[in-house]
Amino acid sequence: MTKGLVKEIGIGIALAFVGFLIWQGYDILPLMFLFGFFAAIYFVAESKGLVKPVGVQEVTNKNINEVYFDDIGGQASAIKELKEALDFIKNYEKIKELGIRPLKGILLLGPPGTGKTLMAKAAATYTDAVYIATSGSEFIEMYAGVGAQRVRKLFKTAREKAARLGKHNAMIFIDEIDVLGGRRGQNSSHMEYDQTLNQLLVEMDGLKNHDSVKVLLIAATNRADMLDPALLRPGRFDRHVKVDLPCKDGRAEILKIHTRNKPLESDVELKEIARETFGFSGAHLESLANEAAIYAFREGMYKITRKHFKDAIDKVIMGEKLDKRPNTDELKRVSVHETGHALMSEILKPGSVSTLTISPRGNALGYMRQTPEDDTYLYTIDYLESQICIMLAGALTEELIFGNRSTGASNDFEKAVDLAKRIIVSGMSTLGVVSEDTVPKDKMHDVITEIIREQEARVKNSLLSYRRKIIEITDILLEQEQLSGNDFRILVMENNEPLEKVSVS
Ligand code: ATP
Repeated sequence: MTKGLVKEIGIGIALAFVGFLIWQGYDILPLMFLFGFFAAIYFVAESKGLVKPVGVQEVTNKNINEVYFDDIGGQASAIKELKEALDFIKNYEKIKELGIRPLKGILLLGPPGTGKTLMAKAAATYTDAVYIATSGSEFIEMYAGVGAQRVRKLFKTAREKAARLGKHNAMIFIDEIDVLGGRRGQNSSHMEYDQTLNQLLVEMDGLKNHDSVKVLLIAATNRADMLDPALLRPGRFDRHVKVDLPCKDGRAEILKIHTRNKPLESDVELKEIARETFGFSGAHLESLANEAAIYAFREGMYKITRKHFKDAIDKVIMGEKLDKRPNTDELKRVSVHETGHALMSEILKPGSVSTLTISPRGNALGYMRQTPEDDTYLYTIDYLESQICIMLAGALTEELIFGNRSTGASNDFEKAVDLAKRIIVSGMSTLGVVSEDTVPKDKMHDVITEIIREQEARVKNSLLSYRRKIIEITDILLEQEQLSGNDFRILVMENNEPLEKVSVS
């Protein structure tokens, strides 16, 4: 619940209480005087900037935990683009001479946790601006006009703060701008939403080059498609900066930033960790470094080791280890299941297993994690089919060893079906190039089944010769609970043909 909502509910309750007193015949005049007195004090204090408006988080350069662009990793091109835009503000005398109109807004677009807030803070440091942060949801209230009033107040506060601190620039950061800046006329209480957005547009249009305090609005969203076109047109947010998930080198950079204050054992290779964390955002990586340090602390160690990082990756992906303990038969089945996934992964891509474990975490009783060799953005049919095989291998290994399957594979099947759908909608199935919307459901179902059946046959065929090996590895996994990819590969190779030579077709 936002502070604003709490305030409004409080006002509602107070009014109801006053109504109740009147109804009971009490004289409420003294109460009204008292209330009027406190309200007057509050409004005077607010107008003098002694209390901050609801939802606005002010950070002045006195109390800012200053963020610099150097504190942001893996966003080199976004930072470059942002800095270029900010240079307009730094060199405003020059741009004025050239008749360039001031930059009013910068929109940061990207998934959660990629560093958009950090960028806005670093932008404030870079331009020596007062920084005021708020969120789109803070403007949306039950009463008409409240949002618009808050927008006015936000810009006013920014100017006043900057003037008081002798600054020429003020930076307003609005996170989740899509909540406040969604397309007009679409909300049920659209009058309130529309008034708020209109006010924001008015304030942006009012930003002038000759203002003594130059206000720049930086907004962030991961739903640019939801924004009202008026916000996106030139002259408002006329710089759109993409802040994407970091690539492998970017992840290594972010890890370096977040391990600056942490003692690392010599076996820790940040590049290796970066390789294993495809799809992680900066926020994930910060949490990963922190969790690794917590593991070291729990073990009473003074340095963070490679193992702590590996455990932390599992924790960030899968969740905390659970206390629930499956019974012996279940554990054996989980062990067989995970060995099946890992074996298939090694058969199809030698060296691809990073860890397999039978310790329950999150919703899983066990899991196998692969190490992506490189960040992948395009998937071939071979890759997608291999992934389907790996997903199916858990249940099929259970079938091979126990003669039946269990419910533990339902999540794997969901993923396998998603992969099969991806093959179809990418035009790589027997249906040729199709649109998901126009393919009849039963046709879609038939082709998914055909793809899955084909891969099932492939997996069954390749697992057959490993029956004895699976039982051996299962016993070791049961005993040790967890195997690293390297230990697993050593066990598979022992007295066996190298996996690369095994045919899977
Ligand atoms: P949201 O969209 O959810 O508001 P965001 O994109 O604004 O997220 P931040 O709030 O800037 O993300 O990041 C959260 C935390 O994650 C930061 O305080 C920082 O510790 C870490 N972080 C995120 N991205 C980066 C990055 N590129 N470099 C270093 N740290 C990062």
